This record gives sequence, C-alpha cells and structure tokens, in this order.
Amino acid sequence: MRIAIIGGGYVGLVSGACFAEFGVAVAVAEADPAKRDMLLAGRIPIYEPGLDKLVENNVAAGRLTFPDTLGEAIAGAEAVFIAVGTPTRRGDGHADLTYVFAAVEQVLATLDHPAVIVTKSTVPVGTGRKILEMARQLRPDLAVEVASNPEFLREGSAIPDFMRPDRVVVGAESERARDVLRQLYRPLYRLERPIIFTGLETAELIKYAANGFLAMKITFINEMADLCEKVGADVTDVARGIGLDGRIGKKFLHAGPGFGGSCFPKDTLALMRIAEEAGAPSRLIQSVVAVNDARKEGLASRVAAACGGDLQGKVVAVLGLAFKPETDDMRESPALALIRGLVSRGATVRAYDPEAMATARPLLPEAVILAETADGALTGADALVLITEWNEFRVLAPARLRELMRGDVVVDLRNVYDPGPLRAAGFSYTGIGRATP
Ligand code: NAD
Repeated sequence: MRIAIIGGGYVGLVSGACFAEFGVAVAVAEADPAKRDMLLAGRIPIYEPGLDKLVENNVAAGRLTFPDTLGEAIAGAEAVFIAVGTPTRRGDGHADLTYVFAAVEQVLATLDHPAVIVTKSTVPVGTGRKILEMARQLRPDLAVEVASNPEFLREGSAIPDFMRPDRVVVGAESERARDVLRQLYRPLYRLERPIIFTGLETAELIKYAANGFLAMKITFINEMADLCEKVGADVTDVARGIGLDGRIGKKFLHAGPGFGGSCFPKDTLALMRIAEEAGAPSRLIQSVVAVNDARKEGLASRVAAACGGDLQGKVVAVLGLAFKPETDDMRESPALALIRGLVSRGATVRAYDPEAMATARPLLPEAVILAETADGALTGADALVLITEWNEFRVLAPARLRELMRGDVVVDLRNVYDPGPLRAAGFSYTGIGRATP
C-alpha cells in the first residue's frame, strides 16, 4: 500500500517512519523547505529517541520518501494523512485549523484518484464532517472518503507508543475508509492491540477526552500536593496509596510544576471551547486550565520562599528546560514561566538542558545564561531548581552539589531526589507536596 503524510513534524515524521516500518510505502510532504532539506540530507529536525535510525533504515529500504511537492507525495496514495499543527488560535483558545484546511484544499486540488483523507492532527469535533463537505464540493468527480485517526503517542517514547499503542481509534463512515485503515494497522492485530471503529465525531472527541482526563489527573494530584504541604502529608505516598487502586491507576499521578507541552495546554483549551459552543460547558476542564496556569505562574514564588523570600542577586541553577525528558520540545514548558518569574525577581539564572538548549534560547529572556553542562550551571549557584527530570539530573550526588554550589537550597519540582541524604549533607530541600520534618 502507498500512503502520503502531509506535515513532517513530530506526529507526521514518527507516523511516517513507523508505517514505513510496517512495510507501507510512505511519502511525507513537508512545507518548510529548511526541514525538508534536513530530512533529505538524512538529518532529523527534532530530538526523539530512535527516530534517526528508523528514518534512515526506511529511507534506505526505499519505503520512506520526502518528495519536493505535495502533488508528488500524494500520487497513487490510497490514504492521505493530515498531520499538520493545530495550535491555539490567538485570543480565543480555539484550535487554529488554518493549516488543516489549507492542507486539505491543496490535497483536493491535486488529487487525481479516489483516496481517503485521514485527520491525524488533533482537530475539534465536526472538522472531519467539514472536510467531507469540502471534498463533495470541490471534487464531486472523485470518490474521496474522510476518516479520523487521532494520535496518542507521547514525545520521548513516540516510536514504542506508535508501534505498540494501547488502542487505535478510527472514526469512519464508509466501508472503504475502514478497510484502508484496517489494512494499514494490520501488524497491530498480531500484537492484539485493539482497534476501535467509531463515527467521525466520536473519534475526534475521544482524543480531546483522553487528553482532558489526563490533564485533570495531573492537576488533581498537584492540588493534593498543595494540601499535603499544608497538613504535613506526603503526596508521593498519597499517589501510591490511591494509584494502586485499579480503578484509579498509577500513571499521571506525579505531582510537579504543572503540565506543559505541545498537547495538554492547547487541547484542554480547545476542549473547553468545543464544550462551551456545543452548549455543554465543562466546568471541570475550565478549572483544570485555570489551576494549571496559576501553578506555573506560581513556581518562581516557591523558589523565592525556599531561598528565604528574596531572590535579588541570587544565582539560581535551573536544570531542565524541555517540558519533559527525552525531548527538545519547549512548547508551553513550565520552565518558561519559572525562569521569567525568577528573572523578574532579580535572580541570575543559569540553565542547562541536555537537548533543548537550541529550542529554548529564543524563548528565554536574554539575561538567562545557558550553561554547557549541569556542572556549569551549578558552579557557584545559591540554589538548584530541578524542573525536568532527565536521568543525568537524577543521579547528582549531594557531595558533588556541595563541591559545586555556594548555597544550600535545592528545589525539586519533580520529587526525584531523596530528601534524607540531601538534608544530611546540609542542604535545605523543598519538594512538591512532601512533608518537611
Ligand atoms: P509540528 O508543528 O511538529 O508539525 C507540523 C508540521 O506540518 C510542520 O513541520 C509544518 O511545517 C508542516 N506543515 C504545515 N502545513 C503543511 C502543508 N500544507 N503541507 C506540508 N506540511 C505542512 O506539529 P506536531 O507536534 O507534529 O502536531 C501535529 C498534530 O498532531 C497536532 O494537531 C497535534 O495536536 C497532534 N498531536 C501531537 C502530538 C505530539 O506529541 N506532538 C501527539 C498527538 C497528537
């Protein structure tokens, strides 16, 4: 089978490489010439573990190509996946569908054979039906079908998530569309991964409901962490105590600085708007958005409190910048709000991230110093603030911190350190929702 993917970003590139690995001929159309040139030169524009090798192998096998034009990419494709961005629209929180509709128009203008247009981008409920109307209007001469196939991969583990998903969701209303998707995902049947077939609107809503629920779970445990701090309880034990209950589950119960990233912030906002417009507003999701925003804005105050209330003239080492480990993605990273707050309180910030320095630089205040190593950030620092739990930060020994730092404040926004040894070494340790002796 031959397919095309429009958009060679995180989702487009990972899906393209993984479908190619399944044995499908995949052409990825990427509009950004700089990204396309990189891909053609065998370089990957994003950091994602294992992606370079997977792309290289499938390009070498002739199954994965990056044609110059969208027309070349969709030639002979049975399915055309739309994997372009759907960022938050300025001003109102809705998903901005400019890229999606532009891509669909380009596809419809160029297509010369029947095909299924599949939305892999996260799109508001009703978008698939609009695409179907566009197809009927613009190309009445062609049998164009529409399907929704939302993507649930997580950055940092995108390839295993795509290859062994908990489930695949397909919204489609014609047997042909269902057949094409069934064939594409056939390798997953052997792994007994369920494929759920639904209508278009249901598939679109499943994606938002999943992200809304996960964002709510994170926000819930963050609120419990705040309560723990007030009543002398420990949120890591609370999370374990509730997470072992099969009805609740252990995942997404790590208290921290608030969620960021390319999906949860924009998808919760969009879900809020979708629900409002449909006349069924979600007060839960509205609260999740407000509580999470306030949490991120309050991070610098937490650090200031740990430093005795005043950050003027203090050197703060910030470890981690990406919104989570194993990615260089800075979209809505909590580190951005933290660092802005630290700088505005007069701190000198020295930051380090193993992968996200280049993506972070243009988003950070100029005064922020980017260190070349974690040690470089920590040398002479009054305080260490850990915000992204890369493995190399987990193993920092108290004795080493003592050698490097001039101060004794450790603010662990991910609860990765054992407070005992740090306190024994004379550090003042502040975690999230962990009782202070
Ligand atoms: P991205 O910004 O990394 O990639 C989008 C790419 O599409 C860009 O490279 C852009 O240049 C390209 N593009 C835009 N218009 C084009 C056109 N007309 N023709 C060819 N290329 C075009 O975005 P992403 O993170 O991959 O997200 C894509 C979609 O997938 C979004 O709707 C997002 O919500 C959803 N999603 C993302 C993730 C994730 O972890 N990143 C996970 C699940 C779902």
